[in-house]
Amino acid sequence: MKILLMGPPGAGKGSQAEKIVNEYQLTNISTGEMFRESYNNQEPIGIEAMKFIEKGNLVSDEITNEVVRLRLLKKDAARCFLLDGYPRTVTQAVALDIMLNEMNSKLSAVINIVVDHEIILERMVGRRVCRSCGATYHVEFKPTQKKDVCDACGGTLYQRNDDKPESVKNRLNIYQNKTMPIIEYYRGRGILHEVNGMQTFNEVYKDIQNILGEPV
Ligand SMILES: [Zn+2]
Repeated sequence: MKILLMGPPGAGKGSQAEKIVNEYQLTNISTGEMFRESYNNQEPIGIEAMKFIEKGNLVSDEITNEVVRLRLLKKDAARCFLLDGYPRTVTQAVALDIMLNEMNSKLSAVINIVVDHEIILERMVGRRVCRSCGATYHVEFKPTQKKDVCDACGGTLYQRNDDKPESVKNRLNIYQNKTMPIIEYYRGRGILHEVNGMQTFNEVYKDIQNILGEPV
């Protein structure tokens, strides 16, 4: 099972991805996470990537493709994976096809979570992340018991620079212009499934489960 999870920033991809990989025993490959981890380790690639991410811009195709290629070659990605946050441009989608082809592999399904952009803006500016464990919350939809304190570990919450309004608007524009064309690319190949992301978390997950079938 090789799945690609798509949707605009703030569509709830991250939390759906987490549930899917647990239920279906898939390797989660999130480029956002990989760049952030690399940045935290102060690796040159991470430092370079974060300059783009913080402004809501895309990391170059060249860097992103290479990071994904190296990740896909690791043993745990050989059989099943879920890709989240990649590809973001048609160039990356084509590069992914070539990589998978070289590994005698291909995508089984592309799931696109659809959400109106006004709703996304509202969702994202309220998002808060724990500085210690990375857990995510929302000031309105998923508040912590104590303001700005992580329920899981007691760490301090903060707003990621890429969740600030000007950055979110920039990300939505980029999504519209660069990433939307990929949807058509996969629709043309007949592996695209669309899910209404303006439902509760569980309803969205149920729709995804209907597409993937029950976990074995
Ligand atoms: Zn925490």
